[in-house]
Amino acid sequence: MILTDTHTHLYSKDFDADREEAIKKAIQKGISRFFIPAIDSTHTSSMYSLEAQFPENVFLMMGLHPTSVKENFEEELQHIEEQFKTRDFYAVGEIGIDLYWDKILLKEQQIAFKRQIQLAKSKNLPIVIHCRDAFDEVFEVLESEKGDDLFGIFHCFTGNKEQALKAISYNMKLGIGGVVTFKNGGINKFLSEIPIEHIVLETDSPYLAPVPYRGKRNESAYIQIIAEKIAALYELDLEEVAAITTKNSKDIFGV
Ligand SMILES: [Zn+2]
Repeated sequence: MILTDTHTHLYSKDFDADREEAIKKAIQKGISRFFIPAIDSTHTSSMYSLEAQFPENVFLMMGLHPTSVKENFEEELQHIEEQFKTRDFYAVGEIGIDLYWDKILLKEQQIAFKRQIQLAKSKNLPIVIHCRDAFDEVFEVLESEKGDDLFGIFHCFTGNKEQALKAISYNMKLGIGGVVTFKNGGINKFLSEIPIEHIVLETDSPYLAPVPYRGKRNESAYIQIIAEKIAALYELDLEEVAAITTKNSKDIFGV
């Protein structure tokens, strides 16, 4: 059985004490593919070290997270372009719009999101979207960039059924994580009505741990808990969920 964590920040400081142990624990459970979203330039070297440590299992993305879009975002976008000149990545991510804290830099977030979508298209790469309190704003950008060359993952999807179908209409798969195990999470109510071909699994570790670890540090080994929940919702075996969602991740990332 091969499970894929399509979104895990294993380079985070939260893993400094036991990173190798946490990764080996996941691999033992069959979670052997880790897709690593970028946040901003301060994390680039720790992402490269992680990749050097687990070259068979770690697949890096490059991008500027919307909450890291500040007044200096042009410099950050420049940093991304420079990384792409020296090597390849598996996606442009995580990118998008986050209005949870405030809307002061909405315009800058929209510009950075759009520019990074265009970068992904120029490299035939998927995008990995971060959307928080910003469905309308994210869909507005996707609408302006839609086409066969636009595809990717709507990470940590927590919207309603209508928003799920809309995301899928832009060639996005839904990244499903710990929230599906929350009683008040919402998505478990309708998820099984969405064909499983549109679903990929993710932890977003160290954030958003599934029940019964809710509130604690999340880790990639917990993909198994999310896969079990998906198996129950879709009335499938764990092995089938692993095979289908790993195939879905290969369709997106090309590996
Ligand atoms: Zn993330």
